[in-house]
Parts: sequence; C-alpha cells; structure tokens
Amino acid sequence: MSRNLELFERAKAHIPGGVNSPVRAFGSVGGTPRFVSRANGAHFWDADGKQYIDYIGSWGPAIVGHAHPEVIEAVQQAAVGGLSFGAPTEAEIDMAEAICRLVPSVEQVRLVSSGTEATMSAIRLARGFTGRDKIIKFEGCYHGHSDSLLVKAGSGLLTFGNPSSAGVPADFTHHTLVLEYNNVEQLARTFAELGDAIACVILEPIAGNMNLIKPSAEFVKELRRLTDQYGTVLIYDEVMTGFRVALGGAQSLHGITPDLTTLGKVVGGGMPLAAFGGRADIMGKISPLGGVYQAGTLSGNPVAVAAGLKTLEIIQRPGFYEHLSAQTAKLAQGLADAAKAAGVTMCADSVGGMFGIYFSETIPTGYADVTKSDLERFKRFFHAMLDEGVYLAPSGYEAGFVSAAHDDAIIEQTLAAARRALGKVAG
Ligand code: PMP
Repeated sequence: MSRNLELFERAKAHIPGGVNSPVRAFGSVGGTPRFVSRANGAHFWDADGKQYIDYIGSWGPAIVGHAHPEVIEAVQQAAVGGLSFGAPTEAEIDMAEAICRLVPSVEQVRLVSSGTEATMSAIRLARGFTGRDKIIKFEGCYHGHSDSLLVKAGSGLLTFGNPSSAGVPADFTHHTLVLEYNNVEQLARTFAELGDAIACVILEPIAGNMNLIKPSAEFVKELRRLTDQYGTVLIYDEVMTGFRVALGGAQSLHGITPDLTTLGKVVGGGMPLAAFGGRADIMGKISPLGGVYQAGTLSGNPVAVAAGLKTLEIIQRPGFYEHLSAQTAKLAQGLADAAKAAGVTMCADSVGGMFGIYFSETIPTGYADVTKSDLERFKRFFHAMLDEGVYLAPSGYEAGFVSAAHDDAIIEQTLAAARRALGKVAG
C-alpha cells in the first residue's frame, strides 16, 4: 500500500476527514491526498518519496520558494529568543512600518494570526466605525470562515444571504448581502436602495477563490465611487493578492485607495501571521483606543514576524516581481498553447505570481461563469499532472501560485508534462 494511503487511513481515525482544512482531502478531485514530508524551493516530496513541482505554495505564502535559507535562518534566530511573550516587541513595529510603507493606504495596522481573523476584525471595525449593520460581499469570494461571511446568495436580487454552512444561524447572515462580482448595475441599484445602511463592502480585489477572476476597471472604480458617496467602508481583502500580484497588492494595480486592507499568507512567509489596517481614523476605533474589541494571545508572534519580515525583505529586491510575473505568464501562456495543440478547450490567465486555468472557451468573469467550465476534464487533467509529478490545486475553483524558485527549467518541465497530460484528456 502507498504510504500516503496508509497515512490517510491513520489520519481519518483521529482527524475529521483526515485533514485540518477541507480542500486538502481531494474531495472534489478524488483519490488519495499527498502527505508532504518536506519541501524545498519549487518542490515538495510526499510520504512515498515522490517529488512534485508545487503550484499551490501553501496556498500563497511560499512566494520566495519553500524553506528559503534566509527565512529559515531568521526563524531559527527568533525561536531561540523565545516563542511568544504576550507583550510588545520591536520587531512588530518593524513589521507595521514595512506594511505601511509598502501598502500606502494602510496608515495603521494590527497583526493577527490568520486571514479569517483579519477579515472578521476588519468587518467588526467597519460596523463599529459606521454604526451600521449591513455588509456586502460578492458571490465566489472567500474571506475566511467567520459566521457572517459563510453565506451564499439569496434566491432573488437584493435579498439577504443564507448561511452556506450548518451551524450558522440565519440571523447572523441576515445582514450580509451577496452580489455578483463584476455586476456594476446590480451594485449601483443596491446602493441606491440601501446605501445608507451598508457598513462595508468586502471583496477579493482580484479573486482567487473561484479560480482566478479579474474585476473590470469599471467595477473597481464604481465600488470606490459608491462607497465614498454613501460613507461605506471599502475593504480590500488582499489576504491572497497582497505582495502576490504586485509589491503593493491589487490596489496598486487598480490605482484604488481602499479604506481598510486585510493581509495574510505572504506577509507571514509561511508562518501564522496576518494583518488588517487602513485609515488612521478608522483604526483609532480599536481597543484600547476605541470601543471595537479585538485581541489575540499569539498576535504579532515573534517567530512569525521574523519569517514575514525576511520574506518582505526578499520580495523588495530588484527584479523580484518582474521575474515572478514573467515566469507565471510563461506558464499560463504555455499551458494555453499546449491545450490548443492537443485540441482541448482550455484557457489560462495570470497576474503577478497567480494564475488560473479554465476548461472553458473564454476566461470567466464571475462565479456563474466558472461553474460552467468542464470540471470533469479538470479532474482528469489534475490527476494526469499529479502522475507526472506536478501538483496543481486539487479543485477547479482555485487559483494557482508560482514562486521565485520556479525557474525556466521547472516551467519547461511543467509544460512538457502538461503536453502529455492534455494528450491523455483530449477527446
Ligand atoms: N481571505 C482570502 C482572500 C483568502 O484567500 C483566505 C484564505 N484562502 C482567507 C481570507 C482566510 O485566510 P486564513 O485561511 O488564513 O484564515
């Protein structure tokens, strides 16, 4: 029996579904999850000793490549100085200063331990600041698993959302309005009707949790205009896109200044660290300055901050994003070309170090579009690539991630594997 299968069976006895986060279980693609024994650069090795080129990079954080020697050294150094204090440290100030400098819309910032905490806290803050209850999110965008965000669209337009998870009271999601990504007309209509009651709009400014979906220029412009007009807090959830699509995040590409920003993944360099920040007048409402409560035993953890600071240092080196973007674009274009040559309906897109592959004629613009792609064919492609030693996201609804360690040889090896895999799934 494969050691991965053996571990999966053992895991299932004491861990629900055998995993500590659902998508790891290969639920939508089937088969046995790969248990990672170690990772380095662009690769990881599973429990059977098989090597994979990794295109999830811990779902985003591993932007400088796994186990980067400088990051590991920073972590080791921090660890010998103590793991957690529950009192402030100088490194936390360094981190806050770095974030505020790199993402200029952020004037003040709080460190937390997960993206879920960051978005949950940002929403509470927006509600506390505005004194309003209602929030807007977009279908297909994921902002972590806090109660008011686990919501799906109601049955008609302008109806409030229903819980998408058991265990969430309908009352909790009653204040969450779910709109369509890239639907400017619906957004304008909603603000015209309810604008004065809406505390915040939260969005993935480039979506990566319904595959990679880009917003139109008009959509982001209208979002900023309407939120300004109605005194609604605009929250850019850049947990995934922050330091990933560009050094300044999606907001730097859009030329938009949001009121609040959430960060995670890359900011912690692979350690549990996330952040939320923005306008000083809004951030000033947080405890101990203001009445919005927010706290954390491990917030600003010294080992996580050390990993994050070193990662932020590396990504600021000259040419980092030019290289990352070029490698990612080469991969996306190469995959699209390979599909065309194999006669498989598939297209691809990328931005910075993030990419999407879609088994559809055209690149989708929203959730409804994504669900129309050929997920059966994706499943077969995923497994054919896995056999080839290429680990793609085990779901047709997720974006992929490239790191600085994905050099030309690795991209070419991936494309050669893809040509063979697409040959197998053609027809
Ligand atoms: N927001 C976005 C945009 C995300 O992609 C994620 C995680 N994939 C989260 C929030 C939640 O972050 P975490 O898993 O660290 O709680």
